Amino acid sequence: VSEILSTPAIVLRWHEVTNTSRIVQWLTPAHGRIATLIKGSQRPRSAFLGQYDLYQTCELLFYARDRDGLHIARECAPLRPRPELRRRWRAALAASHAAALVLGALPRHAPVPEVQAWLDALLDDLSAHDHHPAVLAWFELHLLDRLGVAPRLETCAVCGGAVEGGGALRFSAARGGVLHAPCAAAEADAAAVLSPGVLALLRACRRAQHPAQVRTIQTQAGQRREMHRLLGRFCAHHLELDPLPRELALDLWERPSPLAEAS
Ligand SMILES: [Zn+2]
Repeated sequence: VSEILSTPAIVLRWHEVTNTSRIVQWLTPAHGRIATLIKGSQRPRSAFLGQYDLYQTCELLFYARDRDGLHIARECAPLRPRPELRRRWRAALAASHAAALVLGALPRHAPVPEVQAWLDALLDDLSAHDHHPAVLAWFELHLLDRLGVAPRLETCAVCGGAVEGGGALRFSAARGGVLHAPCAAAEADAAAVLSPGVLALLRACRRAQHPAQVRTIQTQAGQRREMHRLLGRFCAHHLELDPLPRELALDLWERPSPLAEAS
């Protein structure tokens, strides 16, 4: 027995199962991450042609199967088409990284409406503005927070001591965040140096409610690189993800392009 459900849904990824059919992974507010089969989606007269694409938010109508089953898409239409994500490679790269993070970190069928709202806001931001690498950190920090594994940034992750007050700080993925000076000295081999500017940047990204606020934060390329390196190790450790795709994406993202991007 299956019922028909309707929901906004972000296209995270798809793969072909036959010449004409696809399995599409979506993120929805009320059903979490779901997969639907789209039969005949590539046939010339399919009602699905042009109705969904990567990183779009669509209105999806589907037959819900058992809780863990593969649902069947009945129809869909783009609500937020975000054509810029198909024209600007930096934005596409960031969108692809965010989608991969959600696919790797969120179990299927576990509704987390905030994550859907944050991803929607991030994709809108990426499609509307020039790239600003801290918006990805904003998304990662909020996702980690919602999954209960956010890095500790206010007090020492080892002893709870005050971070401010002098001495070199470090950051440890395994310990779960910032280490104040005495603990940093004891773990110097295992933890990365954390500069005060990067700590401030991480805190500002965590506090921001929306990507538009992140865009008002002044950053330097060196600080962004350090922040992304620390966050990358943190995500890899706590979400059990391969860190390499993220490193490559962010390295490319920060690299100045010899050619102006199409705009
Ligand atoms: Zn400490």
